[in-house]
Amino acid sequence: MFHRYRITALLCRLAILLATVAAQAALPALAQREPPRVIASFSILADIAAQVAGDAATVTSLMPIGANPHSYTPSAQDVARLSDADLVLVVGANYEETLLPVVEQAAGERTAIVSLCVPIRPVPTGAAQPEDEDAAAHPDEAPAADSEITSRCAEHIRTLEASFGERAQVGGPVLGPLYALSCGGAEQHPDGDEHAHEAGACDPHVWTDPANAGLWALMIRDTLSALNPEAAATYAANTDAYLAELVALDGEIRDMIDTIPPERRAIVTNHVALTYFAERYGLTLAGVVIPGGSTTSEPSVRDVLRLIDTIRAARVPAIFTDTTASSATAEQIASEAGVHVVPLYTGSLSQPGEGADTYLDYMRYNAAAIADALR
Ligand SMILES: [Zn+2]
Repeated sequence: MFHRYRITALLCRLAILLATVAAQAALPALAQREPPRVIASFSILADIAAQVAGDAATVTSLMPIGANPHSYTPSAQDVARLSDADLVLVVGANYEETLLPVVEQAAGERTAIVSLCVPIRPVPTGAAQPEDEDAAAHPDEAPAADSEITSRCAEHIRTLEASFGERAQVGGPVLGPLYALSCGGAEQHPDGDEHAHEAGACDPHVWTDPANAGLWALMIRDTLSALNPEAAATYAANTDAYLAELVALDGEIRDMIDTIPPERRAIVTNHVALTYFAERYGLTLAGVVIPGGSTTSEPSVRDVLRLIDTIRAARVPAIFTDTTASSATAEQIASEAGVHVVPLYTGSLSQPGEGADTYLDYMRYNAAAIADALR
């Protein structure tokens, strides 16, 4: 609980800070010649930020390619990089589980959460739920949304609707805005309880829906523009061009998923990472190996047996694993159930030249792998 309190407090603080950024008051505009130095927590966010920034900011990822964002522990060099940045971008909501407290200390007031406008979704029923009720998100405890953020987000949603049209809408229940919730796992009890590997009940992997990546781009545009007003027109033009690419990507993925017979559109994944993708493209999340929206918990024996039954009953042909987390348990379950294991890029882009080294190609790669496995 101690840990969640700290994260929630951090997110409240960051939300307030970002509201101030939106009001163009907290981050003094850089009175300098060099483009701002931006650090994103992980590679996917860094790529999207780089598309918005163009040559009017230098964007790097704190985590290297292939790191697991749920368990990545920053090095002393990372801390030095954070303290040297003009802006640090994070997903928040406890996605970067062990990184966020370090960001809070090292970067502090220059940190911005990009997921502020994304409505967060629960782990779907059908997927394994955390057994500990206490681990579930508590929307009742969410801090009240700041009016500055609320109006900023309403503006972003309108912009998104202008690009995506009716496809800007995503169905299904929402728990609230992402910044108000702690979705990830790995909450450590102060007494060092070995069984404290709790998983959140909501999914922080919002970017698996291209419309949500658009909301990120708009938040990055506004944050960079407040930091470096001279380049605001560049950031705006880059964002408009990127939104058009996201709309085209959405159409491409829809065409790929359309090749899967409707009765075969059910997926089993290593952890809850594709809620937003599944909802947008009409897939059912039939089950997960690791309960919750993190990779830091373990399934119980009962979870494993139930999942094997689910895979057999639903005739799901594959388990989709993560390139950034162990697939050992998934491989055992797949072997027992007689199905394939298909790795997807979830928490990281690929190395350059390996087919998923930008967000757009990462989404194409995963959609093609899913369509190929389910057809
Ligand atoms: Zn993940």
